[in-house]
Amino acid sequence: MRVSSLYIHIPFCASKCYYCDFNSYVSTPDVMDRYLDGLDRELELVAASYDHDPLQTVFFGGGTPTIFNTRQSERMVSLLHKHFRLADGAEVSSEANPGTVDLEKLQVLRDGGVNRLSFGVQSFDNDLLVKLGRLHDRDAVYRSWELARQAGFGSINLDLMFGLPGQSVETLETSINALLDLGPEHVSAYSLKVEEGTPFYTWHNRGQLILPPEEDEVRMYQLVMDRLQGAGCEMYEISNFAKPGHRSRHNQVYWRNEPYMAAGSGAHGYVGSTRYINQKDVPLYIETTNGGQRPVTETEEISEQYQMEDTMMLGLRLIEGVGYDRFRDKHGREMLDVFAGPIRKYEALGLLTVDEVGVRLTERGKFLANEVFAAFLEG
Ligand code: SF4
Repeated sequence: MRVSSLYIHIPFCASKCYYCDFNSYVSTPDVMDRYLDGLDRELELVAASYDHDPLQTVFFGGGTPTIFNTRQSERMVSLLHKHFRLADGAEVSSEANPGTVDLEKLQVLRDGGVNRLSFGVQSFDNDLLVKLGRLHDRDAVYRSWELARQAGFGSINLDLMFGLPGQSVETLETSINALLDLGPEHVSAYSLKVEEGTPFYTWHNRGQLILPPEEDEVRMYQLVMDRLQGAGCEMYEISNFAKPGHRSRHNQVYWRNEPYMAAGSGAHGYVGSTRYINQKDVPLYIETTNGGQRPVTETEEISEQYQMEDTMMLGLRLIEGVGYDRFRDKHGREMLDVFAGPIRKYEALGLLTVDEVGVRLTERGKFLANEVFAAFLEG
């Protein structure tokens, strides 16, 4: 399968949220300019390295791509067009944080072909936003939302988090109500994971971070599913909901275990049977790319067995699950021959549905998805 997707990482944020373990740093406009110089060189090298089709999907992720000023934003999108041709109707997404956009910047992104925005809202509860270390408040969400619509964005995702410190099912519902009042085309709703190396991890270990009990988290996930689906957002992945025609095509590439190129510091790409990881350190990334080298620090050949496991682990995130035909087309093997053990075990436990089309999570399986995914890992 020829690659036609590209991820571009922008590793800068205005400050670091307390729960965040993404590759993102607080930096200066000067470093950001040099980063864009490096990205220019890297995109040229990436485009020349792979036999690719015109791009169907592009994702500017971060970090906070909208941390760039208007001139830098214009350059960011122009680099894409300088090095790649886009297919007609390509989906071009950019992450954005509330409070980091103005009309001019949004129009520059729009004019540069970005047609889908993803705002990291997380909550409409100002106290909770402070506890998360987010810089924006609820009013900033409303202002940014208005500006995005004014700039002509008709496909907007809002990220929502649950299972947050001090959050109750009732306060989550207040945030969901506020979110639904805006009428986003897409919602990504994730429960908080306390990641090693973050302030939350330290506070949690010291007993200073009080998270909702597990039964509340289960109720929160159920509430998210009920309310979003009730509002006409189809649940198409265990954490993602979309109005008709607004599923994230780029993220579906990941979940279908299809190839994608990647550029930017710390970015991961997967082309052919090779996964690669770029230099995480921004100064080293800048030095390597401006020296005319690709900044790849790790490559891994993925064996056929691991590729099949990835197809199951990622594909089961989708509500449609993994179809026998898709598995056979991709791997030349029968899914039920390769994974009879875990499929039959989790079917018997009521966590997987197995029918004539393929295999997918049951309603109960959605709550225990990580346990099911782990069963597909060899050994
Ligand atoms: S805005 Fe996103 S990437 Fe940046 S620090 Fe916060 S969670 Fe991390």
